[in-house]
Amino acid sequence: ESTTVTIIGAGPAGLVLANLLAAAGIACTVVERSSRVHVEQRARAGFLAANTVRVLTGAGLADGLLKHGRRHDTCAFRTASGEFELAYGGLGRGEVHTVYPQQDLVRDLVAAFLDRGGDLRFETAAVAVDGLGTDRPAVTTRGPDGALRRLSGRFVAGCDGRHGIARTAVPAGAVRRYRRDHGVSWLALLAAAPQSMAAVAYGVHPDGFAGHMARTPDVTRYYLQCPRGDDPAAWTDDRIWTALGARLRADRHGPLHRGAILERRVVDMGSDVLDPIQYGRLFLVGDAASLISPSAAKGANLAVMEAELLAAALTALLDGGDERPLARYSADCLPRIWRAQEFSHWMINLLHGPAGDGEEAVFLRALQQARLESLQTSRRHQDHFAENYVGI
Ligand code: FAD
Repeated sequence: ESTTVTIIGAGPAGLVLANLLAAAGIACTVVERSSRVHVEQRARAGFLAANTVRVLTGAGLADGLLKHGRRHDTCAFRTASGEFELAYGGLGRGEVHTVYPQQDLVRDLVAAFLDRGGDLRFETAAVAVDGLGTDRPAVTTRGPDGALRRLSGRFVAGCDGRHGIARTAVPAGAVRRYRRDHGVSWLALLAAAPQSMAAVAYGVHPDGFAGHMARTPDVTRYYLQCPRGDDPAAWTDDRIWTALGARLRADRHGPLHRGAILERRVVDMGSDVLDPIQYGRLFLVGDAASLISPSAAKGANLAVMEAELLAAALTALLDGGDERPLARYSADCLPRIWRAQEFSHWMINLLHGPAGDGEEAVFLRALQQARLESLQTSRRHQDHFAENYVGI
């Protein structure tokens, strides 16, 4: 079988790329190892940056998010000394977030691609990639019937996330991997409850960080910092609401709307960046290119930014014979990836102070306090924050 671009993975990266290529009349085949039901129900991100909304709107892929997404332009910090709000929609470049659950976006993107007659194969895993150094790279897939098929094309887009096969197809030594374990873990929760405050709230507390992020009128995402290796099952609904109430200081700022906990899982805060994010005819997009901790909600937004650049570069080559944008793909993406990594790393240090009375822990907590104070009082710092918080 043959196509022009083989796309491995139907997450935000692969689906945006597939839709943009299809719109440009470039043949592509998407292979996704999970079922359609699974990818359309996988709740993860929710905060779409202004650039993401621009890309999706420009491509006619934003009907759902423009109709059902909610504008968010304020975040609040709750600390021992009280609460302060940053109305970031009026700071920096004046950009806001659109809150639209990732699974809803994935559902819209799947429907749009299939409506165009796109070739999207669910329950079809890429099991091998070869010929990356040639002009006919091929992906071997295993479909729902268990049969192996070989799909050859001119390019392969690795959009298969951090644990996908695309990364491992790059020969050792051809790509450098920068990585950091931030040493912090979050219990990521979805609660069947409306949001409890207007804004996104970040609770900085001696027991650890707690976060509140609106999703839909009936579902709210919460985060609780927890020890590495904690068993999510040990967090009963009661224990979760007690910890959230304490760390978000419900006694001072008002009670939280409680509801059943629909999902609880531990996410270890880690980040990595591959350099370059291309090898031969393979191009990495999204989490496959760079994993970013969810501390600043950047992952899905980076994926869309990279998918747009790669689609434009492939179109320039295949339609206009211009090879330069594709040759520059990695160099164009990496500075933006590092900017997002830098901001996410800064957010981690803003939100988490080390525990304990050791000299270093006490010093680092004082720095954290100074960072929060600067953000609360300096208009220039707030502008810088806003620009990076919503920008990509
Ligand atoms: P994925 O969404 O992981 O998609 C990769 C796809 O490839 C998957 O469907 C997988 O099944 C498939 N696949 C893997 N291997 C193979 C194979 N061998 N063959 C075929 N298919 C394969 N980001 C934000 O921007 N904002 C947020 O608010 C935010 N919140 C988050 C909260 C949590 C709890 C988590 C965990 C992440 C969050 N993120 C957020 C990050 C965001 O969800 C990811 O960055 C985003 O999903 C990356 O998209 P992707 O398409 O690169 O990868």
